[in-house]
Amino acid sequence: MGWIHDSGYRPAYAHEGYPASVLLDGTDTGSSSRQIEPSVVGWRAACECGWRGGQFYPRAEWPSSTGMAPEGVEGWQSGTGTFSEWQRHLDRALPELAVHDLARTLAVTEMRLREAVDTARRAGLSWSRIGAVAGMTGEQAVRRLSIEPRSAPPRGPIHDRRDRMPPRHKPASR
Ligand SMILES: [Zn+2]
Repeated sequence: MGWIHDSGYRPAYAHEGYPASVLLDGTDTGSSSRQIEPSVVGWRAACECGWRGGQFYPRAEWPSSTGMAPEGVEGWQSGTGTFSEWQRHLDRALPELAVHDLARTLAVTEMRLREAVDTARRAGLSWSRIGAVAGMTGEQAVRRLSIEPRSAPPRGPIHDRRDRMPPRHKPASR
């Protein structure tokens, strides 16, 4: 049982989060206990990269008959508890992740927009009408929203520059 940020950004897959079971001596098990475990005294947020959350969730305050973190501690459904701590860790460890995800959403939205424009064109709408609806001139609409790249005017030179791979998040010592 763990949390993965599954949006296709490869470095994010090195960060699998989970509520780690904390034992009586203060160490954690490095896993989320699935078995009935009397020695579990609480939980803290953890990540496969070695990160640990600062907050301790005592079992005395969060009853659990099995030793597994209850939902109030895990917070997966409500976006609270150990899950929200791990999300903040992920944001700090991979600040570019939000850029990746939003760019991906934007690309999907652009594709849908072009398809909608194509449908409108087939229905007989003029480019100037489409442009007016989209908040641009007809000429801009042809250039930006046309689904057939050949009918669009050339965009001028665009140099595709590949960024170097971001540095891997270095696992912290346990
Ligand atoms: Zn991590």
